[in-house]
Amino acid sequence: MIDAHIHLDQYKRDVIKNAISIWQEREIDGVVAVATNLSSSYEILKLKQEFPHFVRAAIGHHPEAPPPTKQELEELIALIKSEKHMLSGIGEIGLPTYQKNELLEHYSADEFYYVLEAFLQVAKEVNLPVALHAVHKESEIALSFLKKHGIQKAHFHWLKAPSNVINEIISLGYYVSVTPEVCYRKRDIEMVKQIPIGQLLIETDGPWQHSGPFAKRQTSPLFLKEICRCLSNILTIPIKELTKQIDNNTNELYPPIGGAT
Ligand SMILES: [Zn+2]
Repeated sequence: MIDAHIHLDQYKRDVIKNAISIWQEREIDGVVAVATNLSSSYEILKLKQEFPHFVRAAIGHHPEAPPPTKQELEELIALIKSEKHMLSGIGEIGLPTYQKNELLEHYSADEFYYVLEAFLQVAKEVNLPVALHAVHKESEIALSFLKKHGIQKAHFHWLKAPSNVINEIISLGYYVSVTPEVCYRKRDIEMVKQIPIGQLLIETDGPWQHSGPFAKRQTSPLFLKEICRCLSNILTIPIKELTKQIDNNTNELYPPIGGAT
Protein backbone atom coordinates (compact mmCIF):
# COMPACT_ATOMS: atom_id res chain seq x y z
CA MET A 1 0.00 0.00 0.00
CA ILE A 2 1.15 3.52 -0.80
CA ASP A 3 -0.05 6.68 0.94
CA ALA A 4 -0.82 8.96 -2.03
CA HIS A 5 -0.67 12.20 0.01
CA ILE A 6 1.14 12.82 3.28
CA HIS A 7 3.05 15.74 4.80
CA LEU A 8 6.00 13.62 5.84
CA ASP A 9 8.12 16.68 6.66
CA GLN A 10 5.66 17.55 9.44
CA TYR A 11 6.47 14.39 11.40
CA LYS A 12 9.18 14.66 14.04
CA ARG A 13 12.54 14.12 12.37
CA ASP A 14 14.05 12.14 15.25
CA VAL A 15 11.36 9.47 15.09
CA ILE A 16 10.74 9.29 11.36
CA LYS A 17 13.40 6.67 10.64
CA ASN A 18 11.98 4.30 13.19
CA ALA A 19 8.41 5.05 12.12
CA ILE A 20 9.20 4.27 8.48
CA SER A 21 10.69 0.89 9.35
CA ILE A 22 7.59 0.02 11.41
CA TRP A 23 5.34 1.12 8.55
CA GLN A 24 7.35 -0.99 6.10
CA GLU A 25 7.04 -4.04 8.33
CA ARG A 26 3.29 -3.53 8.19
CA GLU A 27 2.89 -3.56 4.42
CA ILE A 28 3.32 0.13 3.69
CA ASP A 29 5.49 0.19 0.58
CA GLY A 30 5.85 3.94 0.21
CA VAL A 31 4.37 7.41 0.45
CA VAL A 32 3.90 10.39 -1.82
CA ALA A 33 5.35 13.16 0.34
CA VAL A 34 3.97 16.59 -0.62
CA ALA A 35 5.38 19.98 0.29
CA THR A 36 3.67 23.11 1.62
CA ASN A 37 6.16 25.85 0.63
CA LEU A 38 9.74 26.47 -0.43
CA SER A 39 11.46 25.39 2.78
CA SER A 40 9.16 22.39 3.06
CA SER A 41 10.10 21.51 -0.53
CA TYR A 42 13.77 21.39 0.48
CA GLU A 43 12.81 19.15 3.43
CA ILE A 44 10.91 16.80 1.13
CA LEU A 45 13.95 16.56 -1.16
CA LYS A 46 16.10 15.72 1.87
CA LEU A 47 13.64 13.00 2.89
CA LYS A 48 13.77 11.63 -0.64
CA GLN A 49 17.55 11.45 -0.41
CA GLU A 50 17.43 9.81 2.99
CA PHE A 51 14.71 7.27 2.16
CA PRO A 52 14.90 6.87 -1.62
CA HIS A 53 13.06 3.55 -1.65
CA PHE A 54 10.18 4.74 0.48
CA VAL A 55 9.59 8.39 -0.38
CA ARG A 56 8.11 9.65 -3.64
CA ALA A 57 8.66 13.37 -3.57
CA ALA A 58 6.36 16.18 -4.69
CA ILE A 59 7.22 19.84 -4.23
CA GLY A 60 5.12 22.97 -4.49
CA HIS A 61 3.24 25.57 -2.48
CA HIS A 62 0.04 24.89 -0.50
CA PRO A 63 -2.82 27.15 -1.57
CA GLU A 64 -4.39 27.65 1.88
CA ALA A 65 -1.59 30.08 2.74
CA PRO A 66 -0.34 33.41 1.38
CA PRO A 67 0.93 32.89 -2.16
CA PRO A 68 4.70 32.60 -2.62
CA THR A 69 6.58 35.81 -3.35
CA LYS A 70 7.77 36.29 -6.91
CA GLN A 71 11.24 35.25 -5.83
CA GLU A 72 10.01 32.17 -3.95
CA LEU A 73 7.93 31.10 -6.91
CA GLU A 74 10.89 31.49 -9.25
CA GLU A 75 13.07 29.46 -6.90
CA LEU A 76 10.42 26.73 -6.65
CA ILE A 77 10.04 26.53 -10.42
CA ALA A 78 13.83 26.40 -10.86
CA LEU A 79 14.01 23.68 -8.17
CA ILE A 80 11.35 21.61 -9.96
CA LYS A 81 13.34 21.84 -13.18
CA SER A 82 16.72 21.06 -11.64
CA GLU A 83 15.47 18.24 -9.37
CA LYS A 84 12.93 16.68 -11.71
CA HIS A 85 14.80 13.38 -11.71
CA MET A 86 14.11 13.17 -7.94
CA LEU A 87 10.45 14.10 -8.22
CA SER A 88 7.31 12.02 -8.65
CA GLY A 89 4.99 15.01 -8.74
CA ILE A 90 4.29 18.68 -8.17
CA GLY A 91 2.30 19.56 -5.06
CA GLU A 92 0.60 20.39 -2.99
CA ILE A 93 -0.82 23.07 -5.27
CA GLY A 94 -4.31 24.38 -5.98
CA LEU A 95 -6.70 27.05 -4.79
CA PRO A 96 -7.74 28.19 -1.32
CA THR A 97 -11.16 27.27 0.05
CA TYR A 98 -11.01 27.05 3.84
CA GLN A 99 -8.87 30.19 4.27
CA LYS A 100 -10.24 31.91 1.19
CA ASN A 101 -12.10 34.74 2.89
CA GLU A 102 -9.13 35.72 5.05
CA LEU A 103 -6.62 35.37 2.22
CA LEU A 104 -8.72 37.43 -0.16
CA GLU A 105 -8.60 40.32 2.29
CA HIS A 106 -4.88 40.58 1.52
CA TYR A 107 -4.42 39.00 -1.90
CA SER A 108 -6.48 38.91 -5.06
CA ALA A 109 -7.94 35.70 -6.47
CA ASP A 110 -5.83 36.38 -9.56
CA GLU A 111 -2.64 35.97 -7.54
CA PHE A 112 -3.68 32.44 -6.59
CA TYR A 113 -4.67 31.68 -10.18
CA TYR A 114 -1.31 33.00 -11.38
CA VAL A 115 0.61 30.70 -9.02
CA LEU A 116 -1.50 27.69 -9.94
CA GLU A 117 -0.99 28.34 -13.64
CA ALA A 118 2.76 28.75 -13.16
CA PHE A 119 2.91 25.31 -11.52
CA LEU A 120 0.71 23.76 -14.21
CA GLN A 121 2.98 25.13 -16.91
CA VAL A 122 6.11 23.70 -15.33
CA ALA A 123 4.30 20.40 -14.64
CA LYS A 124 3.62 20.10 -18.32
CA GLU A 125 7.15 21.07 -19.22
CA VAL A 126 8.77 18.48 -16.97
CA ASN A 127 5.99 15.94 -17.53
CA LEU A 128 5.07 15.38 -13.88
CA PRO A 129 1.63 14.83 -12.31
CA VAL A 130 0.08 17.51 -10.12
CA ALA A 131 -1.20 16.85 -6.57
CA LEU A 132 -4.14 19.20 -6.21
CA HIS A 133 -5.89 20.78 -3.28
CA ALA A 134 -9.03 21.97 -5.10
CA VAL A 135 -12.29 21.36 -3.30
CA HIS A 136 -15.91 22.52 -3.34
CA LYS A 137 -16.32 25.55 -5.66
CA GLU A 138 -12.59 25.69 -6.38
CA SER A 139 -12.58 22.16 -7.83
CA GLU A 140 -14.38 23.45 -10.91
CA ILE A 141 -12.08 26.46 -11.29
CA ALA A 142 -8.98 24.28 -10.94
CA LEU A 143 -10.44 21.89 -13.49
CA SER A 144 -10.82 24.73 -15.99
CA PHE A 145 -7.10 25.55 -15.57
CA LEU A 146 -6.13 21.91 -16.08
CA LYS A 147 -8.09 21.92 -19.33
CA LYS A 148 -6.63 25.25 -20.41
CA HIS A 149 -3.09 23.92 -19.96
CA GLY A 150 -3.79 20.47 -21.40
CA ILE A 151 -2.73 18.72 -18.18
CA GLN A 152 -3.05 14.97 -18.50
CA LYS A 153 -1.84 13.71 -15.15
CA ALA A 154 -3.62 15.10 -12.10
CA HIS A 155 -4.67 13.94 -8.67
CA PHE A 156 -7.50 15.65 -6.79
CA HIS A 157 -6.57 14.87 -3.21
CA TRP A 158 -9.33 14.52 -0.56
CA LEU A 159 -11.89 15.66 -3.08
CA LYS A 160 -15.21 17.20 -2.12
CA ALA A 161 -17.06 18.49 -5.17
CA PRO A 162 -20.44 18.66 -6.83
CA SER A 163 -21.42 15.51 -8.67
CA ASN A 164 -21.12 17.06 -12.14
CA VAL A 165 -17.56 18.24 -11.40
CA ILE A 166 -16.61 14.78 -10.11
CA ASN A 167 -17.93 13.28 -13.32
CA GLU A 168 -15.87 15.64 -15.41
CA ILE A 169 -12.73 14.95 -13.37
CA ILE A 170 -13.31 11.24 -13.99
CA SER A 171 -14.06 11.65 -17.68
CA LEU A 172 -10.75 13.49 -18.15
CA GLY A 173 -8.91 10.51 -16.64
CA TYR A 174 -7.72 12.25 -13.48
CA TYR A 175 -7.27 10.48 -10.16
CA VAL A 176 -9.17 11.07 -6.93
CA SER A 177 -8.10 10.03 -3.44
CA VAL A 178 -10.03 9.32 -0.29
CA THR A 179 -8.88 9.66 3.31
CA PRO A 180 -9.91 7.87 6.53
CA GLU A 181 -13.12 9.93 6.28
CA VAL A 182 -14.41 7.36 3.82
CA CYS A 183 -14.85 5.07 6.82
CA TYR A 184 -17.25 7.33 8.70
CA ARG A 185 -18.46 10.29 6.65
CA LYS A 186 -21.52 9.88 4.44
CA ARG A 187 -20.37 12.48 1.91
CA ASP A 188 -17.15 10.57 1.21
CA ILE A 189 -18.90 7.19 1.19
CA GLU A 190 -21.31 8.43 -1.46
CA MET A 191 -18.56 10.10 -3.48
CA VAL A 192 -16.31 7.08 -3.68
CA LYS A 193 -19.08 5.09 -5.36
CA GLN A 194 -18.82 7.54 -8.24
CA ILE A 195 -15.10 6.94 -8.77
CA PRO A 196 -14.06 4.12 -11.12
CA ILE A 197 -11.76 1.73 -9.27
CA GLY A 198 -9.01 2.39 -11.81
CA GLN A 199 -8.86 6.07 -10.83
CA LEU A 200 -8.99 5.71 -7.06
CA LEU A 201 -6.11 6.42 -4.66
CA ILE A 202 -5.89 6.32 -0.86
CA GLU A 203 -4.20 8.79 1.45
CA THR A 204 -4.01 9.96 5.04
CA ASP A 205 -3.01 13.64 4.58
CA GLY A 206 -1.03 12.94 7.75
CA PRO A 207 -0.26 14.28 10.26
CA TRP A 208 -3.73 15.80 9.86
CA GLN A 209 -5.85 14.48 12.71
CA HIS A 210 -8.99 12.58 11.68
CA SER A 211 -12.12 11.90 13.72
CA GLY A 212 -14.69 9.09 13.94
CA PRO A 213 -12.91 5.80 14.68
CA PHE A 214 -9.57 7.57 14.09
CA ALA A 215 -10.08 10.22 16.76
CA LYS A 216 -7.22 10.68 19.22
CA ARG A 217 -4.98 8.39 17.18
CA GLN A 218 -1.88 9.76 15.52
CA THR A 219 -2.39 9.76 11.76
CA SER A 220 0.05 7.55 9.91
CA PRO A 221 0.07 5.41 6.76
CA LEU A 222 -0.95 2.51 9.01
CA PHE A 223 -4.51 3.85 8.55
CA LEU A 224 -4.40 2.71 4.91
CA LYS A 225 -5.29 -0.86 5.82
CA GLU A 226 -8.44 0.38 7.56
CA ILE A 227 -9.31 2.57 4.57
CA CYS A 228 -9.00 -0.49 2.31
CA ARG A 229 -11.24 -2.52 4.61
CA CYS A 230 -13.91 0.22 4.47
CA LEU A 231 -13.59 0.54 0.68
CA SER A 232 -13.88 -3.21 0.27
CA ASN A 233 -17.23 -3.08 2.12
CA ILE A 234 -18.54 0.00 0.33
CA LEU A 235 -17.55 -1.14 -3.16
CA THR A 236 -18.04 -4.88 -2.50
CA ILE A 237 -14.67 -5.77 -3.96
CA PRO A 238 -12.47 -8.35 -2.19
CA ILE A 239 -9.83 -6.52 -0.17
CA LYS A 240 -6.87 -8.19 -1.91
CA GLU A 241 -8.12 -7.27 -5.35
CA LEU A 242 -8.95 -3.73 -4.25
CA THR A 243 -5.57 -3.14 -2.62
CA LYS A 244 -3.73 -4.44 -5.68
CA GLN A 245 -5.74 -2.20 -8.01
CA ILE A 246 -5.12 0.90 -5.87
CA ASP A 247 -1.39 0.10 -5.69
CA ASN A 248 -1.34 -0.17 -9.47
CA ASN A 249 -3.12 3.18 -9.79
CA THR A 250 -0.63 4.91 -7.52
CA ASN A 251 2.31 3.38 -9.38
CA GLU A 252 0.78 4.49 -12.66
CA LEU A 253 0.39 8.12 -11.59
CA TYR A 254 3.42 8.47 -9.32
CA PRO A 255 5.90 5.93 -10.70
CA PRO A 256 8.76 4.87 -8.44
CA ILE A 257 11.82 7.02 -9.09
CA GLY A 258 15.42 6.68 -7.96
CA GLY A 259 15.09 3.35 -6.25
CA ALA A 260 11.55 3.59 -4.88
CA THR A 261 9.82 0.22 -4.84
ZN1 LIG B 1 -2.25 18.00 2.17
